[in-house]
Amino acid sequence: MMQRNKSEINVSDMMEEIRGTLNLPEKAYFFDTTLRDGEQTPGISFRHEEKLSISYALDELGVDVIEAGFPIVSQGDFEACRDISKLGLDMEVIGLARMKKLDIDKVIEADMDSIHVFIATSDIHMKSKLQMTREQVLEEIAEMVSYAKNSYSTILFSAEDATRSDLDFLIKANKVAVENGATRVNIPDTVGTITPQAFGYIVKNIYEALPKTIRIAAHCHNDFGLAVANTIAGFENGASEAQTTIMGLGERAGNASFEETAMSLYALYQIPMNIKTRRIFPTAKLIESYCGGKIKIGRLQPLIGQNAFAHESGIHAHAMIKDARAYEPITPELIGIKRSDNVQEIIQRSIKLGKHTGGHALKAKLEDLGITTTDEQFQKVIQHVKNFGDKGHEVLEEDFLAIVKDVLGELPPEEQFVILEELTVLTGSVTPTSTVRLKIKDNGNYVEKLASSTGVGPVDASVKAIVKCFEPMSKVKLLNYNIDAVTGGTEALGHVSIELMDIETNFIVNSNATHEDIVMSSVLALLKGLNRVMKYKNQ
Ligand code: MN
Repeated sequence: MMQRNKSEINVSDMMEEIRGTLNLPEKAYFFDTTLRDGEQTPGISFRHEEKLSISYALDELGVDVIEAGFPIVSQGDFEACRDISKLGLDMEVIGLARMKKLDIDKVIEADMDSIHVFIATSDIHMKSKLQMTREQVLEEIAEMVSYAKNSYSTILFSAEDATRSDLDFLIKANKVAVENGATRVNIPDTVGTITPQAFGYIVKNIYEALPKTIRIAAHCHNDFGLAVANTIAGFENGASEAQTTIMGLGERAGNASFEETAMSLYALYQIPMNIKTRRIFPTAKLIESYCGGKIKIGRLQPLIGQNAFAHESGIHAHAMIKDARAYEPITPELIGIKRSDNVQEIIQRSIKLGKHTGGHALKAKLEDLGITTTDEQFQKVIQHVKNFGDKGHEVLEEDFLAIVKDVLGELPPEEQFVILEELTVLTGSVTPTSTVRLKIKDNGNYVEKLASSTGVGPVDASVKAIVKCFEPMSKVKLLNYNIDAVTGGTEALGHVSIELMDIETNFIVNSNATHEDIVMSSVLALLKGLNRVMKYKNQ
């Protein structure tokens, strides 16, 4: 278990005194719901490989429980739940289910470690959503928790919309769940409308009503920016599990951020936990990279934002040089950020990557980042890194992450429907023109397609030429295009993420690619998307 290192934390002495007046737990547990509630963030959807990669990273971080998904919702969720359960991780893998046999059976079928069952207890939800009376809800809880108990010893019960429920009824619902076999209860502030003091009051009442062996979790949403404060208030009143997401991903304004909750409990409250704080920043960067440019860590975001440890004011900077503790609550190193001239770099265990990088160094680097690859993917990563290094570039960690993400997202060769043979682009003071030659699989055989197009710029011309080649097989529409320099400088990798829709089926795919030439990253992202469209239409 991590013990707080005082030389790295510079917080108020008064906290010592105040802590004694609170009902703090002996240990803080973390329940990560990045793959379930976090994936409900509008616009965010992780691919299967990304979900596995995130699971490894969270395990490495020291998370206690991962909510891998809601298996009844989709085949993709089911497969992720099943495959994450098979990874042999240290953390517990839990699956979500409504109070329905069908849902519970799906969690059992995915062979998950434990189950999370929920039902709404607020009058508004019972009336408008469930169309059930209070008595019916209590009966359902008793019946379904008992049913789940036949297969599971660890059962987490959530009364959805707990904070807008009648408190006596909420307590009753939790008691019924526990009497029928629930071993943990969660108190969700589903709509994000509670205040810290009120949330603390609810937790205190539930804590006092249940046996002390029952672990109580806080699940808070950030609609008023109070998610972390509410979670902490829960911990001051008997909760010992925080349900959080990395970067605070989640529906609407998101869930309580893991980084802020964990570091508050660790640094300000000194509660022991299994979290390896030095893995926090690298893990957040990994998840950010899987968000495909749609959600980014904010510049002012606490702890992990670019400005979190930057100092500009002359007085501050002067004092910082004498003693960093004067203006820093914790050292950036404590959460895995390396200080270099006030610019944070992700590089933690500094292995220089480039054309001379060997397989061992790369393996270590991947392990460091908590990423697992197949042998074939690993060989591709080596090749990409060497190619990039061959052009005289140093491969920075963020470039490296982009390369790995790129490789993990590729379809195996037998599933490639489109292959780029040639791309010629004319740009500058002429009308930008692009010519592409593609091989496209049609009825099992590859046929060659050639097309040219002009455009407002080289990317536009290339995209139009490819779409033209493709027209006989599938008409597609580009819904979204986003480009980012992965690291600074003109030699940086350009990371392109796109959203593409097949007009015939309305099927939407997201894809991304990374290359030092932005025209190439755009073309590769588009081809990857087209590959997925074709895969979908051919299955
Ligand atoms: Mn939620």
